[in-house]
Amino acid sequence: MQKLKKHQKIYVNRSINMASIRSLGFDMDHTLVLYNRVNFENLAFHETLKKFIANGYPEELASLKFDPNFVIRGLLVDRERGNLLKVDAHKYVKVAFHGHMKLDKAARSELYNSRGFKADDFLTVDTFFALSETQLYIEIVDYMRRNPGKIQKTFTEVYKDLREWIDLSHQDGSIKTKVLMEPSKYIVRDPHLVDTLVKLIDGGKKIFLLTNSDWAYTNSVMTYLLDNQHEEFQQWQDYFEYIIVSAGKPNFFTGTNPFYEVMTEQDGLLKLHRGPLVPKNVYHGGNAILFEKLTMQKGDQILYCGDHIYGDIMRSKELFNWRTLLVVEELYDDFKKTEKLQPELEKIMEAITVEEDLQAQVQALRSNISNQERRHKSKHRAKQDESKFLVRIAELQAELKGKEETLETQHKAIKELISTREKQFHPVWGELMRTSLEKSRFGKQIESYACLYTSRMSALRHYSCSEKLRSYRDVMPHDL
Ligand SMILES: [Mg+2]
Repeated sequence: MQKLKKHQKIYVNRSINMASIRSLGFDMDHTLVLYNRVNFENLAFHETLKKFIANGYPEELASLKFDPNFVIRGLLVDRERGNLLKVDAHKYVKVAFHGHMKLDKAARSELYNSRGFKADDFLTVDTFFALSETQLYIEIVDYMRRNPGKIQKTFTEVYKDLREWIDLSHQDGSIKTKVLMEPSKYIVRDPHLVDTLVKLIDGGKKIFLLTNSDWAYTNSVMTYLLDNQHEEFQQWQDYFEYIIVSAGKPNFFTGTNPFYEVMTEQDGLLKLHRGPLVPKNVYHGGNAILFEKLTMQKGDQILYCGDHIYGDIMRSKELFNWRTLLVVEELYDDFKKTEKLQPELEKIMEAITVEEDLQAQVQALRSNISNQERRHKSKHRAKQDESKFLVRIAELQAELKGKEETLETQHKAIKELISTREKQFHPVWGELMRTSLEKSRFGKQIESYACLYTSRMSALRHYSCSEKLRSYRDVMPHDL
């Protein structure tokens, strides 16, 4: 097999034999369809901001700017205090902001690290839609910080308003209509999407679409993306055995909604469906128990690919034993940086080895000093040895002082090296999957919930349909 770059690989948390996978399901948004994030989030940000002003928030807010580089996925939002947090796998808050004001170590400790921390009290930024929403929240919090009293609401109330209006922007079509009017501005084509789907189909796999988007939007986006891209699959529906829209994940995996057939020729009218799912027909809603029954498949024969840990991955794996592939788009850039910054990481590791060696020397000197002191104080010590011990202790203490200073300098140098490396990933939050050298909460979640992860679904094209994907225990898969 050709040597793959990090961003082309699929990483394995749980071993999977692709030969035993009968069908692969795909989420649509951010899995099959990639968006131009800056354009898309900018649109969502401003459409929602309009609703704030229309509902009585200060007109001045219209000047708020969308910053595409501030919020990243995996952060937590403290809605009560208007703070944004990056947390490690042990729930320790490593970086925190109030609006755009960075909180220092003492403030982080007072608010979070010195007390019990329940991640459930906070909201996780875990979808791409949440990025623009969180960005807008942080901008309004920052406005409130700079202009006390101008908005007479608590941070929690502001967040509630935001939630309501962002949902409305998605429902009333103010975002979708604009996307569909100018798809090339908002949608990015993965040049390998068609090859990947065809390879899976040729490899004997059935492909299905399971999306929360409605029929009208799904049809428009998929038509733009896949129609007339391959001579044997002229229409996008030709690729998919089953098509399910408005699935309502994660409730699809916990609920009991029936399937409705979408009458595609009749403006998407819905008709309650009974009996097996008919290939190529379009279904609305439904649930996973019924899906397995009607398509005569078992959980471990299905590999589902999605970008949302909660919506796509957690429940499908936990309740139905579906195999899961999480698509983490941002890793595409992170992995390229990881490769480029490999020499920096090696430098850090070497510096840590030197630090550990120094620590051992300091420890040995401390033990030696207490040993000399104990012997000096001992009642069995010969009187004439007094000065000999004192001289020796003084020598050791001088040596210890020197080593401690070197250790301190080394410690600072390592901190600086780590911080410089982190800033190359992201100037504020660092690497997505890590905080310093430890796993971030997001990294830990990916490891715990997804069987496989990758930066693009089209990475599947590099693997054979009967490949045994093996997991390596104890190290993070992308370290290898
Ligand atoms: Mg999605």
